[in-house]
Amino acid sequence: MSLISIENVHKHYGDYHALRDINLEVGQGEFFSLLGPSGCGKTTLLRTIAGFEDVSSGQVRIGGASMIGVPANQRPTNMVFQSYAIFPHMSVAENVGFGLRKSSLSGAEKATAVGEALEMVGLNGFGARAAHALSGGQRQRVALARALILKPKVLLLDEPLSALDKKMREQMQSELRRLQRQVGITFILVTHDQEEALIMSDRIAVMFDGKIAQLDPPPQLYTRPANRQVAEFIGVMTFLPGNRRADTLEVAGLGHVTLSPDQIIGAEGDVRVGLRPESMTILFDDMAAEPSNRVAQGTVEDLAYYGDMTMYEVRLAGAPRPVTVSMRNLPGRPVLARGDAARVVWDPAALMAFGPVD
Ligand code: ATP
Repeated sequence: MSLISIENVHKHYGDYHALRDINLEVGQGEFFSLLGPSGCGKTTLLRTIAGFEDVSSGQVRIGGASMIGVPANQRPTNMVFQSYAIFPHMSVAENVGFGLRKSSLSGAEKATAVGEALEMVGLNGFGARAAHALSGGQRQRVALARALILKPKVLLLDEPLSALDKKMREQMQSELRRLQRQVGITFILVTHDQEEALIMSDRIAVMFDGKIAQLDPPPQLYTRPANRQVAEFIGVMTFLPGNRRADTLEVAGLGHVTLSPDQIIGAEGDVRVGLRPESMTILFDDMAAEPSNRVAQGTVEDLAYYGDMTMYEVRLAGAPRPVTVSMRNLPGRPVLARGDAARVVWDPAALMAFGPVD
């Protein structure tokens, strides 16, 4: 049973068509993300659910009820923004309790609710602190507690972690996920960070140019992208030129491959052949190649060392550009240098052939 249903939604700003025929359903208790590059319309879509924007045409339902014409403050939604939007002159407890100011709860009941909300976001004992004296991560927790205290059916999150540094962002990602499971409220997250969306979401809608390009759980998006644009946006992918006739593919630097149907996306002819870094490895002396895999000779053009792994840019003989290969760094295994020869083992079953029209 879906909680939110969006049907044939369009949004025009004057001549600009910001949302183009959006259709999607979000389930009760689901962690759903809207992912796409800047300007693709994800914030606009979130704001039409919140009631901060009207749709130009189409329908938005929450819990079966039409939200057309229903103002934001009468919708069963609440929103957490990128900028923390907390009141700096108030205490943490006053900020969190702000939404309850018009409720009929007694003072003691409000204090209990504030305490519970602070505990939920890991800010036990912070109630009396001045909000302006908090760190970025703590402010965002206050904003979350303030949104959750009203017990919305849907929590809308507009890039809530993008102002935080990398470590704090990663910590908040797992905490948000845990919190969402704990409270069971439907979360809709807007992000342009594909890794964040993959980590946190039950399902992701990938948007480009006001349209949904693909709507799937993270593993399907990553392994079965609907088109080249999605494949390029989700994770790292190298593209080599190729030519496909039926199930036979000729790839520059790799040679002939016979494809299975799920490796073919779009029309035949001149194609772009997509390879993920983890579908290739460099053959070191301590390793044996899988019999089903193939080996191509190349030269390391560049590398990035991450400690646990190294990303190599390897130019294969006959290829017009390098491929990106990720390798785990194991004890005793050398890290190659620029100019070193490298034997690249690749899995023909992991290629994707994207046609000229995909
Ligand atoms: P970002 O990650 O940069 O916020 P986004 O995907 O959230 O991008 P939106 O904010 O939804 O994108 O904007 C989509 C398009 O609609 C953009 O081209 C934007 O300039 C345009 N737009 C948004 N709001 C308005 C407005 N009030 N008037 C006119 N155009 C607008």
